Amino acid sequence: MEEPIFLEPVFKNYIWGGDKIKTYLKKESPYDITAESWEISTNKDGQSVIKNGEMNGKTLSELFNKKEMRKNIFGIKTETLSEFPLLIKFIDARDNLSIQVHPNDEYAKKIENSNGKTEMWYIVDCEKDAKIICGLNKKLTKEELAKIINENKIESYLNQIKVKKGDFIYIPAGTIHAIMKGCLICEIQQNSNITYRVYDWNRIGKDGKPRELHKEKAIDVIDLNKISEIFNTSYKNETLINSEFFKVEKIVGDVNERSNIECFYAMNVVKGEGKLITHNKEYKLKLGDSFIIPANLGEYKINGNIELLKTYI
Ligand code: ZN
Repeated sequence: MEEPIFLEPVFKNYIWGGDKIKTYLKKESPYDITAESWEISTNKDGQSVIKNGEMNGKTLSELFNKKEMRKNIFGIKTETLSEFPLLIKFIDARDNLSIQVHPNDEYAKKIENSNGKTEMWYIVDCEKDAKIICGLNKKLTKEELAKIINENKIESYLNQIKVKKGDFIYIPAGTIHAIMKGCLICEIQQNSNITYRVYDWNRIGKDGKPRELHKEKAIDVIDLNKISEIFNTSYKNETLINSEFFKVEKIVGDVNERSNIECFYAMNVVKGEGKLITHNKEYKLKLGDSFIIPANLGEYKINGNIELLKTYI
């Protein structure tokens, strides 16, 4: 099967979501309020479904678990993995997300029987003066941090950073963080859904009660030294992130590339439109589309006034 794999997303209607996934990304969410669109996912909490070619209708997870196809489609590097390594989403924050932290692999394996979660955000669009929270704004001891969190006073100890379209930020596991209102983000992360909420702005959930917090575990895993830097992508076709968990490049049309037998490429269109051409076939691409370049695809071109994130391990 030498063809790109296009994916149908899974939508989530968390209370802080908005309408940009429908209006800006032009996706057909069934919800009035859409917080997230899980674009490339084999996670049990929301699985991407293939919408083209021979595998039409199957989940990405089914494909990944076919031993005889793993190497050809997902690449040599994935052969020894017990699960698909990535989870990629679009996130529309009409309101602030909770102040949260994710555990690293070591803690998550021991306590949650799951992977940890390191993530990266790419600002697809945002309102003027939009901000994000990343890291603590002063040096604290664990005891001080525990006291502040338990007294619900964390808000004044957080590093708030202004963002603009095209910025990206790397959030290693253990970094306290929050996406703030007015940001439309493409989030690339390890395949995990473990979140410890520290503070939820005294907000009431859909059931009329405050959402659950996980202060004790959060205090365990918050790294007191983590403050992330923000970067802007003003160059073409550059590497944004090169970490042990994932690598992310930005592609700006037009490019001629080759697939990589070591690993598939997860592609997310973050601006504009264009087309993908491979094996004499054309596929239309537009903002919000997500697809996979299989390891054995061969040569392909991406043309148009278009920008994509290309992620691999
Ligand atoms: Zn997070």
